[in-house]
Amino acid sequence: MAKRDYYEILGVPRNASADEIKKAYRKVALKYHPDRNQGDKQAEEKFKEAAEAYEVLSDPQKRARYDQYGHAGVDPGQGFGGHGGGMSMEDIFRNFGDIFGGGFDPFESFFGSGGRGQGTRSRGKRGSNLRIKVKLNLREVAEGAHKTLRVKKQLVCPTCSGSGAKDSSSIGKCSACGGSGVIRKVQSTILGHMQTTTTCYQCNGSGQQIIKKCSTCSGLGTVYGEETIQVDFPPGVQEGMQLSMSGKGNAGEQGGPPGDLIIQIELEKHPELEIDGHNVIYNLQISFVDAVLGAKVEVPTIDGKAKFTIPPGTQAGKVFRLNGKGLPSVNGYGRGDQLILISVYTPTHITAEERKLLEKLRESENFKPRPGQKAEKSFFERMRDIFAE
Ligand SMILES: [Zn+2]
Ligand SMILES: [Zn+2]
Repeated sequence: MAKRDYYEILGVPRNASADEIKKAYRKVALKYHPDRNQGDKQAEEKFKEAAEAYEVLSDPQKRARYDQYGHAGVDPGQGFGGHGGGMSMEDIFRNFGDIFGGGFDPFESFFGSGGRGQGTRSRGKRGSNLRIKVKLNLREVAEGAHKTLRVKKQLVCPTCSGSGAKDSSSIGKCSACGGSGVIRKVQSTILGHMQTTTTCYQCNGSGQQIIKKCSTCSGLGTVYGEETIQVDFPPGVQEGMQLSMSGKGNAGEQGGPPGDLIIQIELEKHPELEIDGHNVIYNLQISFVDAVLGAKVEVPTIDGKAKFTIPPGTQAGKVFRLNGKGLPSVNGYGRGDQLILISVYTPTHITAEERKLLEKLRESENFKPRPGQKAEKSFFERMRDIFAE
């Protein structure tokens, strides 16, 4: 069965922000949640479909691959096979913790806390993801680059090591749950009375509470500062691609796990070369005389200057190709080309003597376009040469 478009499933535009995607997923997941649609197979399919869409669109790298290659670009080995496939309900619910934020999970009351990891919670909230932009020049894209970034972010408080407490004796039992980390409730349902267990809203399941706060961080466990991060950019990255570094985002509050660092790539503009996908385009303007007689010139490439021979009789609009002189692809397969677009410069100011020479040339049969002869290639053919890669 053909898969539906992930953006369509969640009902968001293609340029939706991470936050919009999360909100949309939350809405769809609530609507088709099995607990609200008991025994409804279609709702279950929709529920799974939405989880799969979210799994891809919430991951910047998977999303970039999906945007570029569609369903084929998202590795089927990463968790789902066919339509609505290998993602189990358990996987879906496990992910809810991240989606619904913090310790509060509206589904937990339905399923008990068994669906999620038990007893592994820290007291703190997960740190937020941090987004930064990094500019790379063409050479760095071609060869890959190692960069040392100084990133301003929330760091683990050095005084309390992130606990937020003044010292070890200033951590006590949580007043809401009495230290168990869970809150039990008896609910009346159509099936009779049911005891449900939810993670404690106050201590997030840790069972602990800070009695005296650390004075450096006022109990947050984090301080604002700078971290030096080493990043390796693989060759072939493209404008707008995102690299995600797990755990390198903002530190979590009170010992919570850190968020991710998401690095968005920008390409520094080259003064002479333009980029189209993996191809590099150079506009070479030659003189009318060089076009007729041919010439040896130098052209800029990613690897520096290169010698290039203009053959005699070169027409304006001709496209030459330097094979393999483009950018590599990020998956390591091959390299693009450099395309050289020829335009011919027409002088606008000439001396009387030059005029005489040109008038003479005008009379020569060789200087007249052949009857029925068209330009080197039509506009569309040229565009196809350049862009149909
Ligand atoms: Zn502190
Ligand atoms: Zn508690």
